[in-house]
Amino acid sequence: MLKSVLIANRGEIACRVILSAKAMGMRTIAVYSDADADALHVKQADEAWYLGPAPAAESYLRADKILAIALEAKADCVHPGYGFLSENAEFVAACQAQNIVFIGPDVPAIEQMGSKSAAKIIMTAANIPLVPGYHGADQDDALLQREADQMGYPLLIKAVAGGGGKGMRVVDASGDFLTHLAGARREGLASFGNSDVLIEKYLVAPRHVEVQVFCDRHGNGVYLGDRDCSAQRRHQKVIEEAPAPGLSDDLRKLMGTTAVQAAQAIDYVGAGTVEFLLDSDGSYYFMEMNTRLQVEHPVTEMVTGVDLVAWQLKVAAGQPMPLLQAQIKLQGHAFEARIYAEDPLQDFQPSTGTINHLRQPPTDQHIRIDTGVLESDAISPFYDPMIAKLIVWAEDRTQALAKLDLALQQYHLQGIATNIDFLRRLATLDDFAQAKLHTGIIEQHQELLLSPSPQDQHQVLAMAGLVLAQTPQQQFSQLTAMRLNQTQQITFNVNYLGEDHRLCIDPTTAGTVTQDQVLLQTPQQQVKAGYYRHGDCVTLFTHNGRAEVSLLSPSVDDYSISNEADSGSICAPMNGSLIACMVSAGQVVAAGDALMLVEAMKMEHTITAPTDGTVDEIYFNVGDLVSADVQLLHLQPINVEEQ
Ligand code: ADP
Repeated sequence: MLKSVLIANRGEIACRVILSAKAMGMRTIAVYSDADADALHVKQADEAWYLGPAPAAESYLRADKILAIALEAKADCVHPGYGFLSENAEFVAACQAQNIVFIGPDVPAIEQMGSKSAAKIIMTAANIPLVPGYHGADQDDALLQREADQMGYPLLIKAVAGGGGKGMRVVDASGDFLTHLAGARREGLASFGNSDVLIEKYLVAPRHVEVQVFCDRHGNGVYLGDRDCSAQRRHQKVIEEAPAPGLSDDLRKLMGTTAVQAAQAIDYVGAGTVEFLLDSDGSYYFMEMNTRLQVEHPVTEMVTGVDLVAWQLKVAAGQPMPLLQAQIKLQGHAFEARIYAEDPLQDFQPSTGTINHLRQPPTDQHIRIDTGVLESDAISPFYDPMIAKLIVWAEDRTQALAKLDLALQQYHLQGIATNIDFLRRLATLDDFAQAKLHTGIIEQHQELLLSPSPQDQHQVLAMAGLVLAQTPQQQFSQLTAMRLNQTQQITFNVNYLGEDHRLCIDPTTAGTVTQDQVLLQTPQQQVKAGYYRHGDCVTLFTHNGRAEVSLLSPSVDDYSISNEADSGSICAPMNGSLIACMVSAGQVVAAGDALMLVEAMKMEHTITAPTDGTVDEIYFNVGDLVSADVQLLHLQPINVEEQ
């Protein structure tokens, strides 16, 4: 029996593994880099060992250090999660040489599946259907061009060592082939140290359907249903579901048995995923096998009731498979949405910074959140920008999808950009709802998916006004006092979506504001939204998504200071880290005084006071990562007339 496990990973997957290992009574050992000293996985593990500096190459990819820690901490086994060292054959061999069990397959299986072309040669021998193409060792450019011309276009060039959509190029015409070949080779070399490629027929609008397989050391192999992961952007999965909709029982069984056959062809042990492309005519082709636990494994757990991590630990301990094929039943439907720190409206640019506010939907046995972060944690630029996985289950696909949309709506996060509203637009897209799935679905509907979700402007402004009015802040309370008249109306200026608006609101009759929620009362209805106030800005989480409204400094006739719009909000000029703060709350400063130092790209930028004033709030600590435009501190401008 395995009594202790070192988790050679971070973030949500480390937390996920810890959960199951603890439930089995195992001692859990985390590792962490400088960026993760306070991370959730470190808090959850029984013990945590320091690895090194934040960059992965100096921490989570340091096989030697991780192995040394495993030995010193007397870990029985190492769980690699996904990514990092999970498919690194040398690491597996090094663990085994030290009598530490690696939770995953043996070295040959990883090596055989590590190269897309080697895998295809083995799969051909095992009679597994493959996309027609060339996957030979001869990499001569002219030969590849000839093979391509013979095959016809469009076709796909793939780096043999590629992964995560990298090193892949679609070629539409013979004349473009060599240019794309050079590009795929360059990417393969840069990312995976291997410039070899393969070419295959490019299927137009296929589905990505993958099968979860599991094998033990006693000759048993099973499939635990399938997943559809067709919703992809740049070949990366966005929303996954189980089971893959619309598959006949026969096709499901056929693909399942083919997947087990593929795994057994390489003497596979443990959890693995066999990925197929499913064409519109029902033919399916082996694409690759991932020799690890996948990001999207929870949807399979939801529909099978199996704890895949627990199975991994049992099988690694030499036990036989807990269930055999006939005992594995699929029930209901599950979706997983990957919540990323990225801005879909800015070409999915990753967003780093601190999570200032986090409210998650309530979880139960049918709504699950796998995450590695808490409120006030930072999303650093060092690792994958995934914040959380939201997984829902219901009796059928329609209900599950409705549940996913609602849960996404209840996921309120402020501080960094996220793809939550984008995920909701995808989840509510007609074609998606009708399961008209194919790998180009996001691209096909990009105009709709990449436009901001429409909001009711009046409601947004009124709710923001209520929040600004009823959470008094120094500047505003003075204004309120000045503005209160018989009807209790308050007037002020705000900015929403780049436009200035003048609001006139009566907070005593217009609604109520509680700690997290604002309720707007209109003659026809009551409208609710979540909110977060940060300085002069309000983030609303309405039924339609996130909206940001900021208070402008009152205009001259409203208020006695004449200054530029919003001069009190001092914001970060770019993504970086706060390396010094020269002022403290309550301190009086003069225009031009240095307030803070932000470092980005190894250069320091001094933040100075735009006006004379008093520092009334500082929102970050030295050492924090800050993202562009986030408010760093608030300066209460000194009233000219009071001087
Ligand atoms: P990676 O290892 O980089 O993830 P894969 O080989 O798994 O690359 O392919 C990733 C995605 O690329 C697939 O899910 C699918 O959307 C698309 N794809 C791969 N091969 C083909 C093909 N022959 N025709 C059409 N699309 C393909």
